[in-house]
Amino acid sequence: MNTFDMLKVIYIIEGTIINKTPLRVGSSNSQIIMSAVDNPVLMMRRGDLEVPVIPGSSWKGLLRSEVERLVRSTEELKETYGDVWRACDIIELTENEELRKKEEENPCVVCRVFGNTGIASHIRIFDSYPLGDYSLEVISRVAIDRVTGGQSPKRLFTVQVVSPLTKWNFEMQIINIDLSEESPERKLISYLFGRIISGLQIGGGKSVGYGLVNIDEKSVRVKEIRTGKEGLASKSYEGVDALKELEVT
Ligand SMILES: [Zn+2]
Repeated sequence: MNTFDMLKVIYIIEGTIINKTPLRVGSSNSQIIMSAVDNPVLMMRRGDLEVPVIPGSSWKGLLRSEVERLVRSTEELKETYGDVWRACDIIELTENEELRKKEEENPCVVCRVFGNTGIASHIRIFDSYPLGDYSLEVISRVAIDRVTGGQSPKRLFTVQVVSPLTKWNFEMQIINIDLSEESPERKLISYLFGRIISGLQIGGGKSVGYGLVNIDEKSVRVKEIRTGKEGLASKSYEGVDALKELEVT
């Protein structure tokens, strides 16, 4: 059983994310009212500065939907991993008490990693900030007519984006999923890192190619902290070795 009563192993994963295309995580309405541009990017105070941010919750939502898609498209892995190899519908769970109780008692593999109303998440993802210089630009886009699907040239709108090739920090922790042992949870984690390396889209404007990010493989650092009879043991890995540790091959 993976519980938090006892800490067995933690992986602290850090690296540098780069956005290949304009990146736009939008802000809430209250910030828009205060802003001089339409559709500003989400900013957060960091020290004395306001900087763009990719919230950890955005990462978590994105990674969760990635693994849901994997699980739903690989039914055959039920033969290997058993009945836990399924992905529940989290919205359905909030509306259906009986289903929710069932899912809390016998969670699907996605909930076993990401948590649900009854079990804690085994991963933590922190906010990403630019690691150095960045620039913001305002792009004019044409509104798509929702009825006809065509462009309506008079309906231009502007969005603020973070310029391509900005470097961002990435930090994630995996708690009590032992990556040295075969398990359905490990399968999800290794898949996720494969996706983060090959590239994912985060934020708004996905249909026009915005928000394509990936991690710089050489930048990946993993610190593994394990509890044993002799207390805490910690090991660190970088680059290719770090990816091996995450079961990315
Ligand atoms: Zn579930």
